[in-house]
Amino acid sequence: MTQSFQKVRALTGMKDVLPDTSAQWEALEATVREWLAAYGYRNMRTPVLEHTRLFTRGIGEVTDIVEKEMYSFTDALNDERLTMRPEFTAGMVRASIEHNMLYDRPHRVYAMGPVFRHEKPQRGRYRQFHQIDVEALGFAGPDIDAELIVMLARLWKLLGLTDIRLELNSLGQAGERAAHRAALIEYLEQHKDVLDEEARRRMHTNPLRVLDTKNPAMQDMADNAPRLFDFLGADSLAHFQGVCDRLQDAGIAYRLNPRLVRGLDYYNLTVFEWVTDRLGAQGTVCGGGRYDGLIELLGGKPAPAVGFAIGVERLLDLCAQSADQAALPECQVYLIHQGAEAQRLAAQLAEKMRDAGLRAIVHAGSAGFKSQFKRADASGATLAVILGDDEIASGTASVKWLREQVAEGQSQQETIPLDRLVTELTLKV
Ligand code: ATP
Ligand code: MG
Repeated sequence: MTQSFQKVRALTGMKDVLPDTSAQWEALEATVREWLAAYGYRNMRTPVLEHTRLFTRGIGEVTDIVEKEMYSFTDALNDERLTMRPEFTAGMVRASIEHNMLYDRPHRVYAMGPVFRHEKPQRGRYRQFHQIDVEALGFAGPDIDAELIVMLARLWKLLGLTDIRLELNSLGQAGERAAHRAALIEYLEQHKDVLDEEARRRMHTNPLRVLDTKNPAMQDMADNAPRLFDFLGADSLAHFQGVCDRLQDAGIAYRLNPRLVRGLDYYNLTVFEWVTDRLGAQGTVCGGGRYDGLIELLGGKPAPAVGFAIGVERLLDLCAQSADQAALPECQVYLIHQGAEAQRLAAQLAEKMRDAGLRAIVHAGSAGFKSQFKRADASGATLAVILGDDEIASGTASVKWLREQVAEGQSQQETIPLDRLVTELTLKV
């Protein structure tokens, strides 16, 4: 006797993308590839699995991601600690070092794909989610920081998004951060009574992160804490000003947010986020910044770099709210047939249609006309081509419009000789 099998469900916080929604994903990906190509960014792909120490080193031990969000395990087959990538940057940088990419020139690169973080699932927060990750490796100046931000403004425009705004800050350089850190720890010591447990634990290891708290009881304390921005020296301020000037040239508004520190250790100078009020609590659609120390930290020859990551689920959620969504035509022609001969003819004609650049579906199996028409309707096709006994006998096909938009002077259904069918269809859809 076979034992009944307990149905398997997807893991918590990991979503299936079904064909109806996947069309939006593909449309977005196509837009994104063109948008990136217009700025000279080239695709690269790195593995989903990496050595755990890449992330503990690259992201930093005392960060949300490394402390509590990583999917890590020991690969017992060769006794290695591995981690599902929780973000792209560390892997992209590892690859650029491993392949000596920065040996003779800088690189504008991007990647798209799933990332994994063990978080509490809710709207806009999943355990497997997707990022569009863009990195400018080997570039030092504020011009490239601004280029990335200007690029993003163009993407929002391409997608018809308006309610999305830019927050900007500078984290300065290591020395400036050290001076600020000392002042901040002193301040946190003085306000220990309002700190929650996590903040107390982190105040000496990652005090900057304490200010990034979402705990309402700590907001006043965080608002009045010493600001890193006030510790910036002339060079850092000049870099920041360089970014601001270029944003102004491009007509991009921003808000200086001195509390914007980002969750990862590797940032310096420019950091930014694009946020919206339309997604509830998870309003950050894109975050990025400069990370001049990371390449060296991961064992490469020192080189500056800057990048950002877009959360695809959040972006799609936002796109779904904007009215002018382009509906993707999925299938153009649905072939309906009756009888064995007609079925084989339909398959051959469909191949010819595809040669001519049409998207065609042949009804699979045999069924009555009525149920085939139902499938044709559900397929989203513009036209149905009907091949029955009458058509076979007369060497023709009947063509029927399935959508409302029948042009003036065009009949709902017509008969077309088989030898002219493909050519005429290419003119119709
Ligand atoms: P948050 O403060 O929301 O946790 P983060 O600082 O951890 O964000 P980043 O590491 O900067 O996020 O990742 C870049 C982008 O990826 C975010 O701006 C967001 O759009 C998206 N993102 C981050 N975590 C998740 C998640 N768990 N589910 C879906 N999207 C996410
Ligand atoms: Mg997070």
